Amino acid sequence: MLQKVLIANRGEIALRITRACKTLGIKTVGIYSDADKDLMHLRFVDEAVCIGPGASSDSYLNIPAIITAAEITGADAIHPGYGFLSENAEFAEIVESSGFTFIGPRPEHIRLMGNKVSAIVAMKKAGVPTVPGCDHAVTIHNALAEAKEIGFPLIVKAASGGGGRGMRIVERVDTLLESVQAAQRDAEMWFGDDTVYMERFLQKPRHVEVQVLGDGNGHAIHLYDRDCSLQRRHQKVLEEAPAPNLPEQARADILEACVHACQLMQYRGAGTFEFLFEDGEFFFIEMNTRVQVEHPVTEMVTGVDIIEQQLRIAGGLGLELQQEDIKVQGHAIECRINAEDPTTFLPSPGKIESFYAPGGAGIRLDSHIYPEYSIPPYYDSMIAKLISHGKDRETSIARMRQALDEMILTGIKTNIPLHKDLILQDKSFCSQAMDIHYLEKHLLKQVEEKKAETA
Ligand code: ADP
Repeated sequence: MLQKVLIANRGEIALRITRACKTLGIKTVGIYSDADKDLMHLRFVDEAVCIGPGASSDSYLNIPAIITAAEITGADAIHPGYGFLSENAEFAEIVESSGFTFIGPRPEHIRLMGNKVSAIVAMKKAGVPTVPGCDHAVTIHNALAEAKEIGFPLIVKAASGGGGRGMRIVERVDTLLESVQAAQRDAEMWFGDDTVYMERFLQKPRHVEVQVLGDGNGHAIHLYDRDCSLQRRHQKVLEEAPAPNLPEQARADILEACVHACQLMQYRGAGTFEFLFEDGEFFFIEMNTRVQVEHPVTEMVTGVDIIEQQLRIAGGLGLELQQEDIKVQGHAIECRINAEDPTTFLPSPGKIESFYAPGGAGIRLDSHIYPEYSIPPYYDSMIAKLISHGKDRETSIARMRQALDEMILTGIKTNIPLHKDLILQDKSFCSQAMDIHYLEKHLLKQVEEKKAETA
């Protein structure tokens, strides 16, 4: 088993990984930037190393600095968390060639899935259903012919895309070529790779995803599904497990297809297959080869500690869990709490004056914040994940409402009002699963219209 793990991340996920290591008796090394000396997990790790200035490019993305930190502390493995270098195949390769264990999939699988075009090709081969579209790069030369096949509206996407960036919806043929060119420019700017591809733009899909675990030798299981349809600008805001109201046969088929794909690839570690679900059908959009922000909802309903499983698999203990061990109990919801203005959505870094963490039956808070902690301006604005679990969806909603009411957080602006006063009060959301456009095109629009009326 692993002896000492370097945690190449910050914030709540660094604390989450620290906790899992300590539970398993594994020693921990924390890394931090100059702006992050006060991170909570640094109080609990065995050793901590400063790896550079505040900007991510100089610290959490600085591969030589991270490898050096692992060398001087004698760590034997590196956990990348999510974001930063977690889906960088080159980083995984350097970690392994420097003699450390990378806690994640083999670099070749990170690379395969990191390019959405090669991911789609691989999934088609494995029998996983994909969105109707092209499984190769699109340029202004072939765009028209491809678009005729796909039909309108369609969506142009960056092959190396992530974080909801670099996507363009095209309604009509006359804007096709300029959209392809604009998407190429965006893709080059954001991801340093101007490859784009096109697929049908689904009008009212839900975002449903499947959590998997593999041992790297062909044994793989799923931990059921999550619904992450409540999004703003293609970014998830609230997630739940299991995905509500899925037809049982469609669910069983997609779970089996994901496990089959993992067996074929001999996938290692934790991963997520993301789908759009519309009119009873699933369409693969991408695979994330890392632990996801929303993993706690799956942990709550299955009782499986996903980070512990990552550590065990990386440590050579294999995957002891069998599919029949995995049962779903009840329902869980996660609200992402961001340090941002609830009306403008602009980041709101700064000092937390007071903080009281909610609790009680079925409530979990994954967060690194505490009173007097200053949120630095350099990183993602997510500061906490509030998770509720109950015997059914109704109970987890009721518990979430109560927990949000109880949560005290002053000094900075947060999106707590968005969850508390809007989403969890909305009758339609509370009675059923909504599509990916519901939050932005319906709930937030309503708020805008009310504001305009009263102005
Ligand atoms: P990223 O890697 O940037 O997160 P994804 O491919 O996972 O990009 O898509 C993110 C979100 O964008 C989806 O959850 C969905 O809301 C929207 N989206 C992506 N592809 C389509 C599509 N073909 N039709 C409609 N919406 C889409």
